[in-house]
Amino acid sequence: MARIVMKFGGTSVADLDRIRNVAGLVEDEIRAGHEVAVVVSAMSGETNRLVAFVDALAGDSLDGDDIEDEHDVVVASGEQVTSGLLTIALRRRGLKARSWLGWQIPLRTDFAYSKARISGIQSPNMDASLKDGVVGVCAGFQGLTADDRISTLGRGGSDTSAVALAVALKADRCDIYTDVDGIYTTDPRIVPDAVRLNKISFEEMLELASLGAKVLQTRSVELAMNNNLPIRVLTSMAGAGAHNPGTIVCNEEENMEERVVSGVAYSRDEAQITLLRLADRPGIVARITRAMSEANIIVDMIVQGISSKDDVANMTFTVGKRDVEKALATLEASRADIGFEAIKYDDKVSKVSIVGIGMRSHTGVAQTMFEALAERNINVKVIATSEIKISVLIDAEYTELAVRALHGAFGLNKA
Ligand code: ASP
Ligand code: MG
Repeated sequence: MARIVMKFGGTSVADLDRIRNVAGLVEDEIRAGHEVAVVVSAMSGETNRLVAFVDALAGDSLDGDDIEDEHDVVVASGEQVTSGLLTIALRRRGLKARSWLGWQIPLRTDFAYSKARISGIQSPNMDASLKDGVVGVCAGFQGLTADDRISTLGRGGSDTSAVALAVALKADRCDIYTDVDGIYTTDPRIVPDAVRLNKISFEEMLELASLGAKVLQTRSVELAMNNNLPIRVLTSMAGAGAHNPGTIVCNEEENMEERVVSGVAYSRDEAQITLLRLADRPGIVARITRAMSEANIIVDMIVQGISSKDDVANMTFTVGKRDVEKALATLEASRADIGFEAIKYDDKVSKVSIVGIGMRSHTGVAQTMFEALAERNINVKVIATSEIKISVLIDAEYTELAVRALHGAFGLNKA
């Protein structure tokens, strides 16, 4: 007997038939003798619908600060509906089941409404209930602050609810059911011969998730890695068992596959900002990054080019596309403090990355990447690297071409 956390995303609970199907998958695990806690997302599209209500009613208040707590009250409701509906479907199958809302568990978070972090889960009641053979159907995405207000964990946050619960309940497995049958070497919509990976390391998954592969919320991977809890990603559209192996996200040692590069990711959410003729002296970059962080804007790739003639430099960096206007306004406001001549920006760019733990021990990876891009005449604007990743910023119109070229160059269609 094992204790299992099963998580179902929005498309897996999109309508009543899908919910009935999920109840069948849960029943399979119960009949196999396991204790099961389930975590559900809202029906697909529901969270967007709820966010739109809030946005429409709140209007253009300066920063939304006065409504962010109530924003979470509204958007958390989607998960309440699916947790109740799935519980009903399970009871109709003759199973013992009950729903658990975030506050009933309780899943405690900090006060960062709409992107709250989990601070602790203590759930002796749920533990006892699971031991009694009652399926616990938890509303994902929602939590409770220290002063008992509803909070939510950020978009895609049900993944993180599931991993956190699996850790707190000392589960043997955390199975994340979604609408794809695993983690692929790249987006199969762009490269039809992309391959499902049997296993991928936490670190690679973390890079892929933060680089734009949207299957798992980045935080859920972080949490699983810190607690060494393997996650299995699989589809809810097929049955359970050997014909639905999915992808195991686990520790590197357990990774048997000998690959240099495991995946190619891309993101179109980037915008590039260039400051022209900055003073080339200590402290200037710090002023820029401080201005950005005070405005809550994440700066990603950074390059600085120094001119040898005079003491000026140009600096280019990237921010999320939705932050570009705020970033430009913030920079304009601190123009005197930072000291630059002009700003340029371009939001028709995208970031394409290769990821693989094999890069640590293989040479020539960068060369293969840049040659593959050069052969297609794709110009590289900015480069960023880590031990297990190389990212390039390119013109958005070449995104697909670059992804295909890199997937081929690293032989991933045979991964
Ligand atoms: N329903 C939430 C969202 O759409 C949380 C989740 O699905 O994981 O972001
Ligand atoms: Mg998701």
